[in-house]
Amino acid sequence: MDEFDIIVVGGGSAGSAAAGRLSEDGKYKVCLVEAGGTNDIMRVKTPGFMPFIPDKSNYRYDTVPQKGLNGRIGYQPRGRGLGGSSAINAMVYIRGHAYDYDNWAALGCEGWAYKDVLPYFKRAEHNERGGDTFHGTDGPLNVMDQRWPNPGSKAFVEAAAELQLPRTADFNGAQQEGFGLYQVTQKAGDRWSAARAYVEPAKAAGRLEVISGALTERIMTENGRATGVVIRQGRNRRTLKARAAVILSAGAFGSPQILQLSGIGPAEHLRALGIDVVLDKPAVGADLQDHIDYVSSFETQSKDFFGDSLAGTWRMAKAVIEHRLKRTGIMTTCFAESGGFWKSNPDLPAPDIQYHFVPAMLEDHGREKVKGHGFSVHACVLRPYSRGTVRLASPDAAHAPAIDPAFLTDDRDVATLKAGVRLMHRIVEAPTLAAFAPKDRHATPLDDDAALEAIIRNRADTVYHPVGTCRMGPNADDVVDTHLRFRGIDGLYVADASIMPRLVSGNTNAPSIMIGERAADFVKADLAA
Ligand SMILES: Cc1cc2nc3c(=O)[nH]c(=O)nc-3n(C[C@H](O)[C@H](O)[C@H](O)COP(=O)(O)OP(=O)(O)OC[C@H]3O[C@@H](n4cnc5c(N)ncnc54)[C@H](O)[C@@H]3O)c2cc1C
Repeated sequence: MDEFDIIVVGGGSAGSAAAGRLSEDGKYKVCLVEAGGTNDIMRVKTPGFMPFIPDKSNYRYDTVPQKGLNGRIGYQPRGRGLGGSSAINAMVYIRGHAYDYDNWAALGCEGWAYKDVLPYFKRAEHNERGGDTFHGTDGPLNVMDQRWPNPGSKAFVEAAAELQLPRTADFNGAQQEGFGLYQVTQKAGDRWSAARAYVEPAKAAGRLEVISGALTERIMTENGRATGVVIRQGRNRRTLKARAAVILSAGAFGSPQILQLSGIGPAEHLRALGIDVVLDKPAVGADLQDHIDYVSSFETQSKDFFGDSLAGTWRMAKAVIEHRLKRTGIMTTCFAESGGFWKSNPDLPAPDIQYHFVPAMLEDHGREKVKGHGFSVHACVLRPYSRGTVRLASPDAAHAPAIDPAFLTDDRDVATLKAGVRLMHRIVEAPTLAAFAPKDRHATPLDDDAALEAIIRNRADTVYHPVGTCRMGPNADDVVDTHLRFRGIDGLYVADASIMPRLVSGNTNAPSIMIGERAADFVKADLAA
């Protein structure tokens, strides 16, 4: 039996931040348990190798068939190993809109308004542009401008300007709305995952015990209190005891899965799987929200774009050597290099569409090989109305959960996405991008409303931002309170993307890290009380 003060389950974006901060002053014996490995490999650390991330670092989940997507099965990649999804993501550094957090506060999440979360974003951050009202320079999370953005990515921003759409120099500053190049979570041209920022220094200093390759099967509870976790390493089962707190940071799929495996969730569903019910909590695994996304891809003659050709392969080979020697060049790409935030209706409080421009032709999340060179543009719905679930497909912790994002089951999401796709194509037709003579691979039927809806339902899927499955809120039926304490089990906290009561209007890595930072403070305060 191993004993710790605090056990953090899941070494992803939030778990890394929480474990790193909690171990900082050496006051507590902290253990971080991670199902995957260390991710200390070139294919994870080199940004341009993102399409070649190995299976051991990605759960590669499937969704259940999606009614709103004509019965198709969606793809849900999720990071496995230290850094979690921050070790496989596109490194885009975005926090969401101030409106999102003010809305959380308006929903009853006191202490989560923009003014409350901004200091934590700043505390996490080391922005190489320097500090100001919005940015920090003393944090472990390195944020920088891209070293070598593709000319096409810059052309996307120019083309948007040709339509009189605003530019923004800082999506995380005073004005999110507009178009520009994204900043990235990289350092000296390498990926800077949450594990590199928080876990590696803590581990090297001997402050943090890290158990990787250990699948948490369930949380142990005694008389309404979390007392530890049961983990599986290969064929061996071990029990780890937590004297003070268990923090669940297994992500929007993993956290509700572990809770349900522990008998905490909707009682009927658990009984049907033969799991003893510890606490009937229907909100566990409910309220799944994700950014539904449509990608148009365009073929061009320009070999400046990434692509599958002899010239492309030769260029990549040289680029890998350049990156090994100097950490510069096209292998520093984050792929989603530029983009923008746009209001489909000017009366909205914040943009409801986000664009990502990718200097490569993408089909089926990059899983389908495409010959030739070109680019793609993503448009996603930032505040969708559709709500799904994460349930158990099996009582075995190693089995994938049943993920049902219920994409496009609310027609308002279809209408927003249509508007987003239409503007995307207008930008591609503006002079600077039109100069590449792009050929739409799917001949998107922009003028026919029914045909546009049909192609969206046939091709749309996630842009990888699931949240909400352990929602925070002020009511007894919410999963966690506003200090991330599990409602109904003492000594248990949830800290990751799953606690977001509403999906933020942007990418979710920085917000998850902010949640991990806050969790550390909440737990410290509770333990000191
Ligand atoms: C392909 C992709 C691209 C993305 N691009 C971007 C981007 O460019 N910018 C951005 O801001 N966001 C991006 N995101 C989203 C962002 O990375 C995630 O929202 C964020 O990392 C989620 O953090 P988390 O802490 O909630 O969970 P995760 O980082 O997913 O961490 C969960 C961790 O828990 C572990 N775990 C799960 N179950 C168990 C168990 N039973 N036992 C032990 N450990 C367990 C997992 O292995 C994992 O390490 C992307 C995501 C993906 C998948």
